Amino acid sequence: MSCASPSPRVPSPTADLRRRGKRLALTAYRLGLLAAAFLCLHLVTQRRDAGRAERLDSTRALAMVKTWLPNAAANGPPEGDDRVSPVLDANGEPIGWAAQTNPAARSIIGYAGPSNLLIVFDARRSVVGVTLLESADTSGHVAVVVKDAGFFNQWNGRNQSALGLPGKPVIVSGASLTSEAMARGVAARFGAKGMDEWFPGEIPIEAVKKLFPGAATLSGEQVFDGGGKPLGTLLRSSRMGVAVRGFQGPSDVLLALDPSGETIVGVAMAGSRDNEPHTSDVRDTLAFDGPFKGMKARGFSKLEPGTTLMTSGASRTAEAVEESVREVLRRHFAPEPVARPALGIREGAALAWIALGLWLGFGRWRGNKRARTLFAVITVVLGGLWLGLMTGQDQWIKSAMRGSVAGSALPLLALTFAAVLVPAAFGKNVYCSQLCAHGAAQQLLGNLRRRRFVLPPALHRVLAGMPWLTLGLLWLLAFLGVGFPFADAEPFEVWSAGFIALVPVLIFAGGLLASVFLPQAYCHYGCPTGAVLKFLASSPGRWTRRDSIAGGVVLVGWLSFWIS
Ligand code: SF4
Repeated sequence: MSCASPSPRVPSPTADLRRRGKRLALTAYRLGLLAAAFLCLHLVTQRRDAGRAERLDSTRALAMVKTWLPNAAANGPPEGDDRVSPVLDANGEPIGWAAQTNPAARSIIGYAGPSNLLIVFDARRSVVGVTLLESADTSGHVAVVVKDAGFFNQWNGRNQSALGLPGKPVIVSGASLTSEAMARGVAARFGAKGMDEWFPGEIPIEAVKKLFPGAATLSGEQVFDGGGKPLGTLLRSSRMGVAVRGFQGPSDVLLALDPSGETIVGVAMAGSRDNEPHTSDVRDTLAFDGPFKGMKARGFSKLEPGTTLMTSGASRTAEAVEESVREVLRRHFAPEPVARPALGIREGAALAWIALGLWLGFGRWRGNKRARTLFAVITVVLGGLWLGLMTGQDQWIKSAMRGSVAGSALPLLALTFAAVLVPAAFGKNVYCSQLCAHGAAQQLLGNLRRRRFVLPPALHRVLAGMPWLTLGLLWLLAFLGVGFPFADAEPFEVWSAGFIALVPVLIFAGGLLASVFLPQAYCHYGCPTGAVLKFLASSPGRWTRRDSIAGGVVLVGWLSFWIS
């Protein structure tokens, strides 16, 4: 009787399919948790920033509110779609409302900067008073506006619902641009659009005809006659970001070039925020004397400033228009910025190194000690000392807060994606084993001693929780909006920035020194980034206690976001 050896068990196709499905589902769950944590932090940050921008919690703002609501004891946080703050009395009862024009007014520049106004309403949302909270405009103009009570009283008695209709506001003479910007800020705060555009709308064809008499259409900057023949180019200062100020404000200057684009056909003013009669005088000079007509466009910048357009009695306005022409031409002829090559030597080397690390991590060489040591040297020299390329909590938390990974260099993005996706998808922590320079440095230092220590199991268990504790603390600080320097909690910045901040230098040096005696000491007992990557790579396809805890923590984060 022969005794046949038992054949190895081959899993049935259904069991294999189930196993793969389970693994895929767990990969999706772990990556989903990470994405959910990022999204939650982003939304919390966004809401906090919006709240900060609208909140009226300074004692100065409260003192101003008391001018009209003497029983005011506190300004509550902004509420409702219109983000207006309730004004509360000593018992916490609402007695009115208050709002500031920032952040809506921040892009509305008066003479030299934006202003922030405080608007106080009674309980029925009728304006009882408006005043200036702060201004970055020129102090002389601001002082003129502040003295003019009529300017601030113009809103009194109006309901909040009517403030978004800009209409024709009262403007303060001698500070017209500053006061109009403030009035526009009030309208913008309550929903008016386009308040930061001083010269809105398109140029009517009648105005174009003054420079190109045969003009029938204007397409972009190109002017055509009725038969579609190009007549020339029309450049507009306000659309090119040129705003040279005359006595009181900038002018919207039109500059016409002939079809070759080399000769100036004429210059006109489409609009102006400057003072009358200066603007009319300059307009007449441009129309009747045509001082720019026939001049070479490219050579214009070489002429002495203030020698082409001269208008007696309106010299400052004329100089501003001439300066606008100069700047428009400079911008028009400025060479296109030369595109940087998409990949320089550093980027190319970084991507090649990442690819090599991945190949090594998956290939048959990964078990070869010599190959691993050689690649660890490459990682320390190239990835660490030369490129300073490492992913860490500072980068993760800031990207989550911004809600974008844009702005990070391509190699760092590639490295981060490799670090996160590979362990989740394949159960291999290739980043820690091959691509982290700090891990590689510890590996090389560990090779210096044959005999190394092993911590007693109880101490090991306690210290192994440190990376998780650090991770939780860093994310909690980020959620609470505490301005903590997250880069200081890990040693990675030292590789790219050098020995600058004390704490990361201590973590850097302490971790490396410890790794001589304890294998990968910092990785095991200190690194929060490594903790996440190990979690993603651990027990592929098998639900662990960490999956439950991580899910619970992320759920708590979302619940607190919804409840608060
Ligand atoms: S555990 Fe931290 S320090 Fe260690 S290799 Fe991973 S990321 Fe680098």
